[in-house]
Amino acid sequence: MQKTTGIHHITAMVNDAQRNIDFYAGVLGLRLVKKTINFDRPEVYHLYFGNENGEPGTVITFFPWAKQLKGRIGTGQVGVISFVIPIGSLPFWKHRLQQFGVEFQTSKRFGEINIIFNDPDGLQLELVERQEEHINSWSFGGIQADNAIKGFAGATLFSTQPNKTAEVLESILGLECVGDEEGFLRFRADANVGNIIDIKLTPSVRGLMGAGTVHHIAWRSKDEEDLLRWESLLKEKEYYPTEIRDRNYFKAVYFHEQGGILFEIATDPPGFSVDEPIDELGNKLMLPSWLESKRQELEDILPSVEVRILNGDK
Ligand code: ZN
Repeated sequence: MQKTTGIHHITAMVNDAQRNIDFYAGVLGLRLVKKTINFDRPEVYHLYFGNENGEPGTVITFFPWAKQLKGRIGTGQVGVISFVIPIGSLPFWKHRLQQFGVEFQTSKRFGEINIIFNDPDGLQLELVERQEEHINSWSFGGIQADNAIKGFAGATLFSTQPNKTAEVLESILGLECVGDEEGFLRFRADANVGNIIDIKLTPSVRGLMGAGTVHHIAWRSKDEEDLLRWESLLKEKEYYPTEIRDRNYFKAVYFHEQGGILFEIATDPPGFSVDEPIDELGNKLMLPSWLESKRQELEDILPSVEVRILNGDK
């Protein structure tokens, strides 16, 4: 049976590129691993943040566009994005969020404490301590590797039809249902990051796509051959996937599951070092070959942005 090992990446929409970088790199300490453009809309950046190598399961990506109308988090979307932090680092993160004026709450789900907060565009984020082996050796500002976010813990899906979404997780993606508690169904995949998916069972408002909402969630596929098998499985089960698209850093197919959420399946290879060395990831604007001739034009349109250590951080 076809089985994903977990989340490949999650992509969201925001308004301001520099504010986005200041939050995900500056406050959360993720590495900007790729600065490119939306291949379907080259006048908009596509920013990728992750661990030091941008490995699958650690990568959150954004389309920052100033004119994008504000969306509303609700059904048909990934409602909450969770990151995993090392055991014992919860006090460090509470202090750090306070230091940068980020309000947070704590809550408990499946026996775990989550710190819940919003990013500057209103996306709902969580931090949760877990004993996962995967280590992120990236350090930035006041965040040393021993406190650094390791990658995704997982995500909470807000579905219009939770039973249909549960079905696609189990019968198409091969996740295992591992629990049911206080309005959440929990699923697990095999990777050690990005492997825990919750479906919220209590009602939510209808989601509206726009700034401050997740655009899609991508699941890991081993390679292109594996992706072809997913594509035929999706066709056979009438999920009407797109054709396979070349995203330069991975190949991907997209489909809507019946709970309204846009799913993608993306290959692990080739990854972000395909067009620039690991130690220079994210420094330069990278363009796919078919847009290289438009570089000057695009650089003139796109706002200039930088990864910077925030005031008061050390
Ligand atoms: Zn994607």
